[in-house]
Amino acid sequence: MSKVVKFGGSSLASAEQFKKVGDIIRADKERMYVVPSAPGKRSKDDTKVTDMLYACYALAEEGKDFAKELKAIKARYEEIIKGLKLDLSLNDEFKTIEKNFKEKAGSNYAASRGEYLNGIIMAAYLGYEFIDAATVIFFDEKGDFDAVKTNDVLSARLKKCKNAVVPGFYGALPDGTVKTFSRGGSDVTGSIVAKAAGVDVYENWTDVSGFMIADPRIIDSPESIDVITYKELRELSYMGASVLHEDAIFPVRQEGIPINIKNTNAPEDKGTWIVGSTCQKSKYVITGIAGKKGFCSINIEKDMMNSEIGFGRKVLQAFEEQGISFEHVPSGIDTMTVFVHQDEFMHKEQQVVAGLHRLANPDTIDIESDIALIAVVGRGMKSMRGTASRVFAALAHNHINIKMIDQGSSEQNIIIGVSDEDFETAIKAIYDIFVITRI
Ligand code: ASP
Repeated sequence: MSKVVKFGGSSLASAEQFKKVGDIIRADKERMYVVPSAPGKRSKDDTKVTDMLYACYALAEEGKDFAKELKAIKARYEEIIKGLKLDLSLNDEFKTIEKNFKEKAGSNYAASRGEYLNGIIMAAYLGYEFIDAATVIFFDEKGDFDAVKTNDVLSARLKKCKNAVVPGFYGALPDGTVKTFSRGGSDVTGSIVAKAAGVDVYENWTDVSGFMIADPRIIDSPESIDVITYKELRELSYMGASVLHEDAIFPVRQEGIPINIKNTNAPEDKGTWIVGSTCQKSKYVITGIAGKKGFCSINIEKDMMNSEIGFGRKVLQAFEEQGISFEHVPSGIDTMTVFVHQDEFMHKEQQVVAGLHRLANPDTIDIESDIALIAVVGRGMKSMRGTASRVFAALAHNHINIKMIDQGSSEQNIIIGVSDEDFETAIKAIYDIFVITRI
């Protein structure tokens, strides 16, 4: 077996955390390639180094003095180096960074230094080779990730070394300029390295023991998920569950490499396995619940709408013309409802309404705001009778009015719309009926 291990910012925030990471890596020879994030928060009120870098560079860009801010960033790294008793100086690196900031090397370059410097420290600490991600991870002229070139260069490079550290979050454009993925992108790097190295497992180490069935800010100590499929994860992440970057599943998914989410602070915990498919039944009928507030519904009524060919297209065109994407479109006989993100829709509301009148000529248009959407996801639902009825019974008992119901054809999820103010109660009610009382 061989593994790629990625460690998140909180796992590398201090020398103490670095030591835990070192122990984890040394405990298992199969952990061959390491992808570090930049140092994260040491406590709740702390600032991530990535955010410090963005702020520092913003000053440089405005031509202001940034010496104090850069010194504070350097101090974060020096504290780690000192705590690990390493014979390593980053003086030259910081001189280069200062020079490049003055020459306005760009905010992508600035942010990437967080991972770059942490990678240098990690490689020195482990005695592993350091591979600058800008030499092995590539974006094309348009700024899109170049999967083919990256895989060719990176796999050839990794073949030459048994152990290496590849910093997360960034790569290079064809002209060599540094470019980052979106925030949290070290997860993506980990997945890319796992694919290129052809390992058996991609371990993603963070500060929680995997995915929880529901958001711990709403449910007190929710149970964790042992095994989840890529598909289920996609549904839950889309609805706001965030442990892993959304794009991180794609490179490994193509290769059938499972991801294991693990906790640096509790390495014995099994964590969550993310797999392509599994015969393992989830403990409960549902695998997870997630949701988001802040949607609007635009209810469009027109007599005989169901027999008017092209009506749906015209309605959606009114949204497309304003650059608004829709989330769900449940329809009735003479009605059609479009769910959109409130913050995207709000400023263009009247243009959309005008477009609807012009294109679809409806009888009435009625807009409702502050709606929350909740997804109840589970591969077990397909073969189970009564899942929907349990969801609805739980909500009814809690006096929650359901505004929308949508079950995808995959039968792996049920999406329910409730008002924003019922959001937390609804999640608690669903969690309760499936996980606590298990009726
Ligand atoms: N350090 C970057 C961020 O804060 C990337 C990462 O941690 O994955 O977004």
